[in-house]
Amino acid sequence: MLILRADAMGMCFGVRDALAVIGRLPRPEAVTIHGELVHNGEVLAMLDRAGFVRSPEAARAVPSTPVVLVTAHGISERERARLLAAGKQLVDTTCPLVGKAHAAAQQLAAEGRRVIVLGKRDHVEVRGIVEDLEAPLVVGSEADIECWPQARLGVVAQTTMPEERAAQLLAAIRAANPQACVRWLDTVCSPTKARQQALGDLLPRIDALVVVGGRDSNNTRQLAERGRAAGVRTLQVEHVRELVPEWFEGVQVLGLTAGTSTLQRTIDEVHGWIGRLGGAIAVAARGNPGTSNPVESVRRG
Ligand code: SF4
Repeated sequence: MLILRADAMGMCFGVRDALAVIGRLPRPEAVTIHGELVHNGEVLAMLDRAGFVRSPEAARAVPSTPVVLVTAHGISERERARLLAAGKQLVDTTCPLVGKAHAAAQQLAAEGRRVIVLGKRDHVEVRGIVEDLEAPLVVGSEADIECWPQARLGVVAQTTMPEERAAQLLAAIRAANPQACVRWLDTVCSPTKARQQALGDLLPRIDALVVVGGRDSNNTRQLAERGRAAGVRTLQVEHVRELVPEWFEGVQVLGLTAGTSTLQRTIDEVHGWIGRLGGAIAVAARGNPGTSNPVESVRRG
């Protein structure tokens, strides 16, 4: 089995920089991580072990610790003001590209447009953007699109939405609102674009795909959905422990990619596991005695 790694995959600079800031904080027990830092169970478990306090994304209570860490997903200015008014010291790890999405939405609003955010309504990043807007709209699918009465509409996207999906929704909005002047500001982040592009390059060359990343990670799920939509057998795993040899039976060329919050270590563990499996299959194919059942040989190994 040949394993092809996507040219761009895994942790983005926004998450990496946020984790670097967190790693330098001297007293974890004095810090509440406000909302989920990343949608990655392994990273969250590491934070728990280090002693950080975590407040759930939906929490509206002011954290009890003196220091509050704003995650890479960002928060609204309204929320920031609320925390500062409560006397909290903020450590801000908002990704600059999320900041750009906030600024784009504000720019459209300043132009007198009703702002539409393409993305998941309950995602922390989307909530942060819409909380600062007057009568915002969130469009997660075609079912959310209407003919709105405004003559001026402005559209931005959650940073991790695939470009193609954003383009589909934008076209549907334009079609449903022919009376409106619709302005689109592209806020899909460059690491998301690069990972989607790299996967697009990989798909015609593979017959199965493994996507490594958190189950709740939006961009990881989008990568897996793209694989399935292309008709490629696709497996999304959060950890190497979820892999089973049977899934790989008959696979000749396997693609490997990972979401933007996936640790390099996790990718390497998954790659290593599959590599060992692939090696066992190759040996069996050459008729090596004792490995007539490659799956069994891997289990024994
Ligand atoms: S996915 Fe994009 S916007 Fe989100 S943290 Fe990473 S680089 Fe920033």
